[in-house]
Amino acid sequence: MTDRLDILIFGAHPDDAEIGMGGTVAKHTQAGIKVGICDLTHAEMSSNGNVDTRRIEAEEASRILGLTARTNLGLPDRGLRAEKEQIDPIVREIRRFAPRIVFAPYWEDRHPDHVMCSRMVQEAVFNAKLRRYMPEFEAVTVEQLYFYYINDLGPSDLAVDVTAVYETKLNALKAYRSQFTSPGTVAEYVRTPLNQGYIEQVEARDRVTGQKRLVRYAESFTTKQPHLINLF
Ligand SMILES: [Zn+2]
Repeated sequence: MTDRLDILIFGAHPDDAEIGMGGTVAKHTQAGIKVGICDLTHAEMSSNGNVDTRRIEAEEASRILGLTARTNLGLPDRGLRAEKEQIDPIVREIRRFAPRIVFAPYWEDRHPDHVMCSRMVQEAVFNAKLRRYMPEFEAVTVEQLYFYYINDLGPSDLAVDVTAVYETKLNALKAYRSQFTSPGTVAEYVRTPLNQGYIEQVEARDRVTGQKRLVRYAESFTTKQPHLINLF
């Protein structure tokens, strides 16, 4: 299958995956791992920017991160529902790309769309392995589902050292000019939590996470399934 990815990350909005795990993405694409991001919506309810600017910004961030694929399901922003007609397109993406590992937003976050996205992806990962569910597409069993953090931090069960690629993460975030540019520099922009030093907060968080394992920057994740490892 030519579309096959090693890692597929879902976010509610373009920029979610970059905020939570842009460094982990860059680290793996630079090592030759095939990584894709699927955004559920175009973030059309965002206070700043519009669908076109968000699309161009996402394309730039994708280039910076070295993604193999970036797709958008065009589901309604602030209208995400864990219902069949919205979960099935996620199942189709999983079956199309057949990733070994899927990432979803952590199941608690101050933005309800991130919470809903988390739930929808969990449902889709489950359905994707059922061969009698949507039998027109071959069933895919995802090896591991991990959760990344967008606005709020939770348990750090896994951490990835992203020190060597941190500049790349920052550049990918800065590609979202409509979201992170401070108002005042662009007359029509309104103040939102994202343009009040948000990138600096993400950087500070990744520093604190890194400190737990004595590296400069790290991104943390959690999982509901035990992480299978070989000790030696
Ligand atoms: Zn978001």
